[in-house]
Amino acid sequence: MMTIDNYKFAGKKAIVRVDFNVPLDENGQITDDTRIRGALPTLKKILADGGALIIMSHMGKPKGKVNMKMSLGQIKEAVAKALGTPVMFAPDCANAKEAADALKPGEVLLLENLRFYPEEEGKPVGIDKEDPAYEDAKKAMKASQKEFAKTLASYADCYVNDAFGTAHRKHASTAVIADYFDADNKMLGYLMEKEVEAVDNILSNIRRPFTAIMGGSKVSTKIGIIENLMDKVDNLILCGGMTYTFAKAQGGKIGNSICEDDKLDLALDIIRQAKEKGVNLVLGTDCVAGDKFANDANQKVVPSNDVPDGWEGMDAGPETRKAFAKAIEGAKTILWNGPAGVFEFDNFTAGSRAIAEAIAKATDEGAYSLIGGGDSVACINKFGMADRVSYISTGGGALLEAIEGKVLPGVAAIKN
Ligand code: AMP
Repeated sequence: MMTIDNYKFAGKKAIVRVDFNVPLDENGQITDDTRIRGALPTLKKILADGGALIIMSHMGKPKGKVNMKMSLGQIKEAVAKALGTPVMFAPDCANAKEAADALKPGEVLLLENLRFYPEEEGKPVGIDKEDPAYEDAKKAMKASQKEFAKTLASYADCYVNDAFGTAHRKHASTAVIADYFDADNKMLGYLMEKEVEAVDNILSNIRRPFTAIMGGSKVSTKIGIIENLMDKVDNLILCGGMTYTFAKAQGGKIGNSICEDDKLDLALDIIRQAKEKGVNLVLGTDCVAGDKFANDANQKVVPSNDVPDGWEGMDAGPETRKAFAKAIEGAKTILWNGPAGVFEFDNFTAGSRAIAEAIAKATDEGAYSLIGGGDSVACINKFGMADRVSYISTGGGALLEAIEGKVLPGVAAIKN
């Protein structure tokens, strides 16, 4: 497979798919530029090697229509500042051939939001799935998606995918475009390389013991990952809101705690699978309950399977926090996705903080730790411990699908 380090960019035009889907305030000002900074190593490397850059991205969900609130023109100057060089803008991404042809080494062209064209996502618009004409519309859209991807490909000599956030989508710019470049002229960017390596460390190059911590609100959204990890981990901590589905499934009383009543059998099945596979499953035994879902709720520590009426489990209790720390201590591979409590409320962060601290300590002692999925990243940042873990993934859905063991179309398109 061609790599960004081996490719000779001098005199070449590179079309690079990045994830510049940055949050903007009502004045179009960027409120968090993490994603722009994330793509800089790749973009700067190409420029430094004497290549010209064509940058493409989506922003928001314009659903195949032009919507200037989601125009990438708004971030042109920020990109120029980050790159330290002027950036030209192509206001129509499907009609930028002339501008691309005119690019000289070291120059940069930013294309308008790819999702202004429905072809980017490749889903037919304005027709219901139930409509008998839907299948034909879908076929027609797939054909025009190929044309759209071919047009984008025609702008450049090589294709670089550095948008991990959309790697789980088979879109024109993330996967289909790769068909128009031979294997020597397409590659992953640095950010993608790092993300793919991080997933490999968790799924293939495992150093033992391996502790995975899955939290968040629901077991249903994490079940694919839990099942895939069950064959790999030594310790599995399941925490957060899903604690109470497990407690109820085992006959516990959970008061007003959140619970997925249709997943009680699933919870019992997970407990059974863990036993069968020799996985040390760690579930909360005590919790910090609140008498309302608010930061200023009254608190009391109660057994996770005996939450009084009118109270709800909102964070891990002291005994549980110790058990979590013990399962993390000494681990050599650690994955954390999802908080152990309602961490957005400052008074209910102790469980998530205990996990973050144990991970930081284990990492100091040589463990490889990967944190991913929006909320756990927000947690580690809130606790100021981001620099004490091995890797923080930039991908939400993409990371979760990769850990489920699914092949990401954005990666497969380059590798195959
Ligand atoms: P998810 O999107 O499934 O990863 O869930 C993240 C959310 O789970 C966060 O917003 C947390 O506030 C929430 N959460 C964690 N623990 C609990 C709990 N015990 N009760 C209600 N929500 C929770």
